[in-house]
Amino acid sequence: MLQNYMEIMVNEVYSEVKDKYNICHESKCENDIKSIALNNLPPVYFLSTVSEGEKKAFLVDRQRKITVLTKLTEAVEIVCNKCEYGKKNRASL
Ligand SMILES: [Zn+2]
Repeated sequence: MLQNYMEIMVNEVYSEVKDKYNICHESKCENDIKSIALNNLPPVYFLSTVSEGEKKAFLVDRQRKITVLTKLTEAVEIVCNKCEYGKKNRASL
């Protein structure tokens, strides 16, 4: 089965920052946030010749993580601008 490694990375980074940054916990928002981020990131598919080590290195690359995090943050602003959770959070700030 083909796997988009950028998608795996977006999922990993999202679960890492979800609680840390108090991101909205609505599953509808979560899907939209990931979708928008992925639309703004290049898909990455590895060939059969690529080793597991290289795939792992891709996922832990710090610079790439920062890029993914930036895209996720932008997506949160778009998606949760209108949702209930976002409204409540804004009001309390
Ligand atoms: Zn939301």
